[in-house]
Amino acid sequence: MLSPQLLEGYQAPLIHEVHADDQYLLNTLEGEWFEILHHFRWWDYREHAGAYYDALYEFNRQAGEQTAPTEETAPETQAQAKLRLLFDRPTMTSEEAPPPQILYQGQVVEATEPTVDPQTLAPGVVPPRLVGRKPKCFFGLLKSFIGTALMGFPAEPEQVDLLLKTNPSFARVCGFVPKEKDKAPTYQGSHIPSLRKLEQFDQVMRQAGLWDRIKVNEVTINLHTGVITPEKELVGDTTHYRAYSSFETLHYEDDKGKAQKKSQSKTTKTCACDDWSSCPHEWILSDEGAGTIVKSKTKIVWGHKASVIGLPQQGIALDAVAISDAATHDGKTFFPHVEQVLGCYPSLSESIERVLYDSACDDATLKAQFQDELGIELKASFNPRRTKPITEHLPRGIEKITPYGVPVCSAGYEFDYKGCRYANETFVYQAPCHKDGACVCLECPERLQCCNRTNQSGRTITVSFDTLPQIDPNDPPMAKRFKAIMRRRPSVERMIKRLKCDLSDERLSKRGNESFQAYLDKTMIAYHLLLRYLY
Ligand SMILES: [Zn+2]
Repeated sequence: MLSPQLLEGYQAPLIHEVHADDQYLLNTLEGEWFEILHHFRWWDYREHAGAYYDALYEFNRQAGEQTAPTEETAPETQAQAKLRLLFDRPTMTSEEAPPPQILYQGQVVEATEPTVDPQTLAPGVVPPRLVGRKPKCFFGLLKSFIGTALMGFPAEPEQVDLLLKTNPSFARVCGFVPKEKDKAPTYQGSHIPSLRKLEQFDQVMRQAGLWDRIKVNEVTINLHTGVITPEKELVGDTTHYRAYSSFETLHYEDDKGKAQKKSQSKTTKTCACDDWSSCPHEWILSDEGAGTIVKSKTKIVWGHKASVIGLPQQGIALDAVAISDAATHDGKTFFPHVEQVLGCYPSLSESIERVLYDSACDDATLKAQFQDELGIELKASFNPRRTKPITEHLPRGIEKITPYGVPVCSAGYEFDYKGCRYANETFVYQAPCHKDGACVCLECPERLQCCNRTNQSGRTITVSFDTLPQIDPNDPPMAKRFKAIMRRRPSVERMIKRLKCDLSDERLSKRGNESFQAYLDKTMIAYHLLLRYLY
């Protein structure tokens, strides 16, 4: 049960076993997970271990208590409950109501001083206070979950259980020994934990907010030790994970009495009563937070939505948070998430000057909010809000101007944007050049109808600001600077791929936002440990 890493003052093991496959795994390229677990700095997690054992004690104490229903009123029918839950959703609140909680916040768990002295904890050393069987070691359980993610599997109990049972090197590096078949099944703390114990560990960690705290700690360490260097920009986007639930379509009337419908997960109860229709326990959503996510006109996903924020130059994800209601529009999730990330990592707020997002955030009010409340510039991909090109009242020889503000001439050339003249409120464009530098107009068959002068630099046109009302003259998306900045935005797609494909799975195996947030946190912990290792 001893970890290969020892602290000063700790006695070295009398016998140090060297396993041949350990040496092999330490030397293989794909063995990052093994090296990270082998050299795991467990002493950095002693505070969390103390908090975990406290939470476990509380969990076991509460498990013995019966929860009694508090109200004696007539029970709510399932149909009533469905509508109550529907109108409680953040995407359903009216405009007069207080602004809904966009980001999932979980239960507020106050970080109290642990009653267990963290300094007395070590791998295999559990606090003596707990009665009954010796609990499974926190460090071993933590390593099992993180190691599972490092190997590219979802860090969920079923997967951890499978790997511990089938991969002896993994079980051993986590500090567990397999149960031997021919021996009597006596309980030992060092035996590989049962699936039920893994589920309990995950649940205690989740409910005590410990996955989140460890994640914040990992990111903070990477920011302070130079693994992550400061950048001037943040980039964000949302992504979906497929829900482990089904939905039903509810019909209701909106404020104006108009018939509407919305998809929602089914209602359920957590009690073990025989008859749910008459028992007094509350109806809840079976998969709170799940909703329909519209990817395109033909693609709709039933899932959970996460907002991801990272640093574009290094391509490093800093945070991933569950959205309270997956049906929330992307334009609403970015501001609260940036605010939360800057609050959580104060060193970032010193360097961040600009944030990048896709066209979902191309909104003047939102840009002003970023500027006024955070002092940050929001740069979003241009959303023209129209699909048809402009074809009337155009300069001679110009066939159309695309919704993105690009004129196309009758010979089919796209004109280059040159700048604006504020004095006469016009955008200036020029005909493009061939690769050899010669203007396309010089040998153009349309030249006679279009260019009327022997102009070597080709046709120049001006377009009034009024012709393109969708374009902000102070920040035109045709400008080179705009394009150069927005070229960094897609790096967030690669961060999402890392988190969703390389370190977990896009199909969830649990319901509810609490589990979803924990899933994101576990993935982020593995991601930042890997970053530190590769640094
Ligand atoms: Zn009940």
